Amino acid sequence: METSRVFCKCPVCGDFYHILVRDPDWYEKMWPEGTPGELVPGTCIICFSELEKGCRVKIRKSICSDSASFLGKEGTVLDILTRSDGTLYKVEMSESVDDGQPKTVYFVRAELEKLKK
Ligand SMILES: [Zn+2]
Repeated sequence: METSRVFCKCPVCGDFYHILVRDPDWYEKMWPEGTPGELVPGTCIICFSELEKGCRVKIRKSICSDSASFLGKEGTVLDILTRSDGTLYKVEMSESVDDGQPKTVYFVRAELEKLKK
């Protein structure tokens, strides 16, 4: 069966990706608001995984100016702060970038990738 690519953009982190679909009526069924071939909003696999307290995470993107120095570093989710405006993740970094002490930093979801325990 023939496959076609559907191009997507994650509304959380902004990454582009594609999925392979076999159903020629995919757009009609899954994205009837759109035009076949048009970009589709869809949460990427990294943002899709749910983060809970105690999760190990890696800083994969820097959206806020205070998070840039933590790119590539790992930490543990200490708390999750949710309001109608959105969610912030309070993360204790495994290593500090300046004074050698563990640091607690607040990130948005797009900046975090869940690590396997
Ligand atoms: Zn994403």
